[in-house]
Amino acid sequence: MKNGFISIIIPSYNEASNIKLIYESLTNEFRSINYDYEIYYINDGSTDHTLDEIKDLSTKSQQVKYISFSRNFGKEAAILAGFQHAKGDAVVVMDADLQHPTHLLHDFIKGFEEGYDQVVAQRNRKGDNPIRSYLSSLYYRFINNAVEVDLRDGVGDFRLLSRKAVTALLKLSEGNRFSKGLFCWIGFDQKVIYYENVERKNGKSKWSFRHLLNYGIDGVVSFNNKPLRICFYAGLFILFLSLLYIIATFIRILKYGVIVPGYFTIISAVLFLGGVQLLSLGIIGEYIGRIYYETKKRPHYLIQEAKIDHGETHEKNQL
Ligand code: UDP
Ligand code: MG
Repeated sequence: MKNGFISIIIPSYNEASNIKLIYESLTNEFRSINYDYEIYYINDGSTDHTLDEIKDLSTKSQQVKYISFSRNFGKEAAILAGFQHAKGDAVVVMDADLQHPTHLLHDFIKGFEEGYDQVVAQRNRKGDNPIRSYLSSLYYRFINNAVEVDLRDGVGDFRLLSRKAVTALLKLSEGNRFSKGLFCWIGFDQKVIYYENVERKNGKSKWSFRHLLNYGIDGVVSFNNKPLRICFYAGLFILFLSLLYIIATFIRILKYGVIVPGYFTIISAVLFLGGVQLLSLGIIGEYIGRIYYETKKRPHYLIQEAKIDHGETHEKNQL
């Protein structure tokens, strides 16, 4: 008699060399875990042989299921697809690249049995590019002042969620999904497990600096409207200063008559105000852009083919 059912969700984008390795590692762990399980590979529009590898495994093993997107929709969409299809009493999200040690499953399940709804793995930054880790620690310091949820450095998507937490997440229907924030936003009792950072062995990271920067902006903008407030206060402050300046200049004119106006003051005011206005417009634009995308209510992803239930394969165009 098994204690329950665990679903593992693995977003995979060009991970052909890792699909089998992570499967072996997981099945190995499950030998000593008294739970039934399913492994959900979400093929996020890979351009290499990832899907072939996954299909090959799925014919050999009943536990392996997959969803294959029609193109690359991003890791967030892949995680969402996993949550929507996973059947487990608890769901674990992990990367395909073996950077998330499978032996932590034991701790995850222990936490789950203790009654926690989220068991979260937090890594240290050993072996990471020092510039990258410095920038991210700065980012976390900044973002935690800015947003309403508490985001931690080293905490990612690698975690276990109870059915209750998954149901809660699925209620959040926003199109622009910043998972890290959503995981915090739903709350529930959390347990944190620490682990040593592991470097990627096969394939390469899909996160370029530009991606990370965009992801960072998403984090700030998805979870608060403080930037809009900052624009408002900055505008107010500059307006106040300008008024002071205008009054002072006016009094001077009354006293001494018109002085030849200074090129410097005019050009600095024009440049400065221009800069502030552009920045504010940009921030407002970010929010409006988001409203634009949200109102379209497009699906988060499209499935090209999938094996969702026991043995049932949906080939192309059947979904
Ligand atoms: N991934 C994905 N879609 C993407 C980019 C990445 O599904 O558009 C997956 C990728 O295959 C991996 C996980 O997300 O399983 C984490 O990606 P990566 O290892 O590149 O990120 P890093 O560990 O460098 O932060
Ligand atoms: Mg990785």
